[in-house]
Amino acid sequence: MANPISATIDFDRDGVQHGFLQVPYSRNDSAWGSIMIPITVVKNGDGPCALFTGANHGEEYEGPIALNDLANRLQADEIKGRVIIVPAMNYPAYLSATRVSPIDQLNMNRIFPGQSNGTVTQQIADYFSTVLLPMADYVLDIHSGGKTLEFLPFAAYHELDDKELLAKCEAATRAFAAPYHLSLIEIDAASMYDTQAESMGKVFISTELGGGGTASPRTVAVAKRGVHNLLVHAGISQQAPIESDEANIRLDMQQDNAYVFSEHNGLLEPCVGLGDPVKTGDLLARVYSTERSGEAPVEYRAKSNGIIMGRHFPSLVKIGDFMNVIARKVAD
Ligand code: CA
Repeated sequence: MANPISATIDFDRDGVQHGFLQVPYSRNDSAWGSIMIPITVVKNGDGPCALFTGANHGEEYEGPIALNDLANRLQADEIKGRVIIVPAMNYPAYLSATRVSPIDQLNMNRIFPGQSNGTVTQQIADYFSTVLLPMADYVLDIHSGGKTLEFLPFAAYHELDDKELLAKCEAATRAFAAPYHLSLIEIDAASMYDTQAESMGKVFISTELGGGGTASPRTVAVAKRGVHNLLVHAGISQQAPIESDEANIRLDMQQDNAYVFSEHNGLLEPCVGLGDPVKTGDLLARVYSTERSGEAPVEYRAKSNGIIMGRHFPSLVKIGDFMNVIARKVAD
């Protein structure tokens, strides 16, 4: 079955077009209605194509902010090739400020390659897999921690069997010029957008730029600089890259002991902050009972040396929650 989503813009036309991806969605308040996902396409002749997305998870905001800014100001005569901008990939989730879609409760980044005859989120994923990704050479998906996580601002690529593609992904990640960059080891990569793009041979860059369900001037600046620099790196923009006034520190994750998960429900006392150095055995957090006073808290300790790259954001923690991830600083 063909994907039911249609674009109100023409991907092959030169110039700047602002329009929609129109997803048919029949429901109680709109029997023949559609979901209208904003999209901007800027094209000038032949050249590489960049596909930029934000809000793959609906409550991560650096992407939508930087991409709305880019869509507002990018002119066709500034570029060679094509830039496709979707500020909010999981648009229903973005509107409801939730990680997953309120329509089908699906997590956009766990359902790729999607399904043309599936639910709304599955159909959006399928449209990316079958229509947008095939057009793209460079693919950037801007993530942040969302309401439950917070990260050091980093750009990332993944280890790939295709070493030529790996080198291109690493070079593009460095060009993004986030304060930190690394080869990211995912908890569960199988059905991610990242994996789909990489399997199609696309140069893919992801980020985690902050979190807590908000954005900051610092992390927004990282995102805006990153999209600009990536367009320069791709040869799409002829402008000069923007220099970062922060260091571009290389991190490395250790496979076995990088992630720390909570085995308790309770009140979380963080004992280290983002970017803090830790050694194996150092106290990371205490978890207090929420049910009674006078009970000793459970202590969580680092299982590896490094710096705190990510943390659980809310102060109440549940069994199974991600608590910290530790990475090492490595020389470039
Ligand atoms: Ca995310």
